[in-house]
Amino acid sequence: MRTDWLIVGAGFTGCTLAERIASQLGQAVVLVDRRSNVGGNAYDFYNDEGVLVHQYGPHIFHTNSTKVWEYLSRFTEWRPYSHRVLAVVEGKKIPVPFNLNSLAAVMPERYAAKLENLLLEKFGIGAKVPILKLREVTHDDLRFLADYIYDNVFYGYTVKQWECRPEELDPSVTGRVPVHISRDDRYFQDTYQAMPRLGYSELFRRQLDHPNIQVLLDTDYRRILSDLKFSRMIFTGPINTFFDDLHGPLPYRSIRFEFSTLDVEQYQEAGTVNYPNDYEFTRVTEQKYLSGQTMPKTILVKEFPQRHVEGETEPYYPIPRPENRETYSRYLQEAEKLNGSVLFAGRLADYKCYNMDQAVGRALRVFEEVATGSSAERRLRYATASR
Ligand code: FAD
Ligand code: UDP
Repeated sequence: MRTDWLIVGAGFTGCTLAERIASQLGQAVVLVDRRSNVGGNAYDFYNDEGVLVHQYGPHIFHTNSTKVWEYLSRFTEWRPYSHRVLAVVEGKKIPVPFNLNSLAAVMPERYAAKLENLLLEKFGIGAKVPILKLREVTHDDLRFLADYIYDNVFYGYTVKQWECRPEELDPSVTGRVPVHISRDDRYFQDTYQAMPRLGYSELFRRQLDHPNIQVLLDTDYRRILSDLKFSRMIFTGPINTFFDDLHGPLPYRSIRFEFSTLDVEQYQEAGTVNYPNDYEFTRVTEQKYLSGQTMPKTILVKEFPQRHVEGETEPYYPIPRPENRETYSRYLQEAEKLNGSVLFAGRLADYKCYNMDQAVGRALRVFEEVATGSSAERRLRYATASR
């Protein structure tokens, strides 16, 4: 079999690149995934109860990129949805990211008012302050508040999720959920926040519905290398596995998802409830909030973080720590030696905790490079032929 492109991994990165190359360059793509579904971690399906379930963990779409929004809007209609998260702290359910409403819920009224004024004076309304930054304050009351938030919202959750303390990770990790000096209870503040109306899998189906794209599932790409002739390759799996762990393994965190069906219409007060301080799981998400469905039963998913073991668990989260970035940069040097015959992109190949929109944005940028390269190549061929 012959093709122009072999793309490994049918997540958002692989599907976007396959669609662009097939539809814009008119070139043939074989898109291969070792799972039995396309969509990577964003895959969803309707279960026996008819509830739209996210098999690999709850996925909420949000972006500030008009380019990504407009691109994906070609393949889906949207249902407006603003995600809300509560965290159980000292027996109360408080909004996360921690904000002025959370403050009022956990502190006595007059002290909360004092802390609110101090926060407004120091940072201003609307500011977003990463917890590790907030802990640098010198004012006694603000320092007390920072430690309170660190101890009750971040410490236990982070140790469960990553098996290390917040300050042992790149600050960007806890910086994803900064303390918010406002009363906006939404988990994300992005310009565009919505869920694909018919689910992610329908979005992927439309994206891949092109005669130039052939999809092979349940297939590790190594199995087809001897039978498939291709000009170039895009790899979106773990970069260390491509190089057979030449520079040692790159660690990832995995998660065990536990689903349960309840005979009630609605179980919890928000889409997700976080449990920073109790239990072995980090959070519980009620899928119907995400899909907007109304039906008599409901589906919950609990997330139990665990170490990733290659061949046994799925590598969900790159672990942003300096020593891992160092190992990753060695793999990047190997990738560069391939002179563009294999391109690496995506959450696992770039070893970066991209959100979905960032994965699509990255894929669109890679495509632009490919397209510019291809038209330069075509011009060169044309110039040589007409000489
Ligand atoms: P992936 O989706 O991981 O796809 C990579 C694919 O490569 C996989 O399907 C894998 O099977 C395949 N593959 C790997 N190796 C091989 C091989 N050797 N042969 C064949 N195939 C191979 N983002 C958000 O924006 N909002 C959210 O709410 C959100 N929630 C998340 C919750 C969880 C629990 C997780 C883990 C991630 C979440 N994300 C969320 C991030 C989102 O999943 C990623 O941004 C997105 O899936 C990245 O797409 P990708 O194509 O780069 O990688
Ligand atoms: N986090 C936390 N407590 C919370 C929510 C988040 O400690 O209640 C920290 C934790 O380290 C987590 C990180 O912030 O891994 C990023 O949270 P996010 O919800 O973005 O995680 P993701 O959705 O990527 O799993």
